[in-house]
Amino acid sequence: MNAHPGFAGHAPIPACPVCRSGAEPWLSKPGYRLVRCTACGHGYLANPLPRDHVERQYGDAYFNGGGDGYPDYTASGELLRAQGRHLASIVARHAAPGRMADIGAAAGFILKGFEDAGWQGTGIEPNASMRSYGREHLGVDLVAGDAENFAAQHPVDLVAMIQVIGHLHDLDAALRNVAQSLKPGGLCLVDYWDRTSLPARMFGVGWHEISPPSVVHWFGPDDLAAAFARQGLHPIDSGRPKKIVLGSHVASLLKHKLGESRLLSPFAGLTGLIPAKLRLPYPTLDLKWVLFRKEAA
Ligand SMILES: [Zn+2]
Repeated sequence: MNAHPGFAGHAPIPACPVCRSGAEPWLSKPGYRLVRCTACGHGYLANPLPRDHVERQYGDAYFNGGGDGYPDYTASGELLRAQGRHLASIVARHAAPGRMADIGAAAGFILKGFEDAGWQGTGIEPNASMRSYGREHLGVDLVAGDAENFAAQHPVDLVAMIQVIGHLHDLDAALRNVAQSLKPGGLCLVDYWDRTSLPARMFGVGWHEISPPSVVHWFGPDDLAAAFARQGLHPIDSGRPKKIVLGSHVASLLKHKLGESRLLSPFAGLTGLIPAKLRLPYPTLDLKWVLFRKEAA
């Protein structure tokens, strides 16, 4: 009868994946139903996702095709590796290096940064090209999988989810896996784009993170904590990461965003003026990290 039940205005809105309450329409984006939980405020995509969502989203085009992904992921390798070392220094305030799993590791640059800081890790990554690049060029251990289906061979001291949480298509399955992979007292480092931040509230549907169906969850600090609490993990520290990005990545994202707007699309060509190799500090008003600890027993 209806080929796209999720697009129909009157299809029931699925319950909030964090607290199971009802939701109401949130932002208006053609073809998508962006809704907001009336109890915890969690934002999520109410459209049903296809079975092959992960393969479709994280094919090679995501890492090299621009758009809402990356123009050339590996060009940012050294920056990402430095980012890994920076994130490792955050974890070091709470735990000595041990064994870790990095979920959504891509080519393993961030994981390599953790290894520079003394961690021993395995990366979980659905994209085969990224895995082979990382194995060949960085010598990191990368296995096929994603947050929803991975299982650590041995319990780990740390799970890293960097630029991952907004993309999860089955939040419960993913966080259950995280909890089961951790030793008692183990840590999970998560970064996320804060729905309640000033840039998010200012830009509304024009905020760069409103890019379904790649991004399907929009968290604030409270609903993020509630989602982890369901699996027995609780926040022990939080802050804003230092993030440096390449000019080419900023230009590509800007061009994509400007192109989406009828009013601003004539200016998309100006993004060509941003030098590709320029290193830009990303103003991280909307990017946060949280360190969660699993209950001891
Ligand atoms: Zn909720």
